[in-house]
Parts: sequence; C-alpha cells; structure tokens
Amino acid sequence: MDMAVLPIRITGEPVLHEPAQPVERIDDRIRRLVEDMYETMSAAPGVGLAAPQVGLPLRLFVFDWTDEDGQRHKGTAINPTLLISPPPLGEPDEDEDSEGCLSVPGERFALTRSTRALLRATNVGGGDYEREAEGWLARIFQHEFDHLDGILYVDRLAHTEQKAATKAIRKRSWGVPGQSWTPGIDHLEG
Ligand code: ZN
Repeated sequence: MDMAVLPIRITGEPVLHEPAQPVERIDDRIRRLVEDMYETMSAAPGVGLAAPQVGLPLRLFVFDWTDEDGQRHKGTAINPTLLISPPPLGEPDEDEDSEGCLSVPGERFALTRSTRALLRATNVGGGDYEREAEGWLARIFQHEFDHLDGILYVDRLAHTEQKAATKAIRKRSWGVPGQSWTPGIDHLEG
C-alpha cells in the first residue's frame, strides 16, 4: 500500500476547533487514513497525530513515542475514552512540561497535565484495548484526545503562557482558516 504524507492543518482551521464524530466502521478508507497518518507523523516528525489535524473530523488518533528506557509506545486509538488523574497544582515547569503541537508548528509552551491516564480504544483491527500511561505518554494521550474535542493545548495554557502563545500565533498570521503545512515539503522555522 502506498502511503502518503498528508497536509497538517494549522490552528485557525475550523476542523481543529470543533468536536469530531465517532468512526462508524473501520473500512479500507479508515485503514488507509491510519497508514497515512503514521507516515505523516513520522515525517513531521511528531509523537502523536489526530484525524482533525489532517482535516478529518473523526475520533481517531495515532501515537508513536519511544521512552527514556528505549521502549516504544505505538498505537492507534479509534473512538477512545480517557480517564485521567487530577492534574497537579501549581505552575508548569518550563522544561519538564514544555509541550508542542504539529498544528502550532515550531512553538512550545509549558502546560500542566495529569500524570496518569487510562486510555480505552479500538485498534485498527477492530479490537478493543486498554492502556495505562504515566508521564509523557499520559501527556500524549491527553493532548491527542483533546484534539478530538476540538481543543488545542494552547487553549489550556495558563495566563502568561497563553499570552505568549496568542502573540506567537498572531505573529505567524495563523488563527485564521485555510492554512496547512506538509512535512518534507514545507519547512517551518522552529
Ligand atoms: Zn496537537
């Protein structure tokens, strides 16, 4: 199967800011989409990618992240639910909590996230699974799950970071519909 790198929508595109719809049937179209999403995520490169980011309002995301111990966490989450532990109190750490998003490319802002998450989802083979996550993987799940509800991480930032993000987005003339970038073709400065 030929895989394709898909254009990634940039903040301001309506599909990123609206709740996505459940996947009704895992057919060839969905299997193809998942393959293309892996290809796109790998080319970006990124550790997670949600269907709305490639323009499709579907409740589906992929992730591929290798932890500090070299263990790879890779999977497809179709129609997921996510349970999270209460988020820690206090200010986010500038280094430890610095998060990014392929739909706000080249920018990073610190955000406090819950440290534990339980993902329940269907894989591309149609099987249901459950996955407990801690730390950065829990963060990836929260970030990608938010995409399915039309929420970007920049929407969740605390005041100071929020201001910086709004400024950066305005400076790059984002925040309006119709913008995308394609990994391997468009090179965005970090
Ligand atoms: Zn994102």
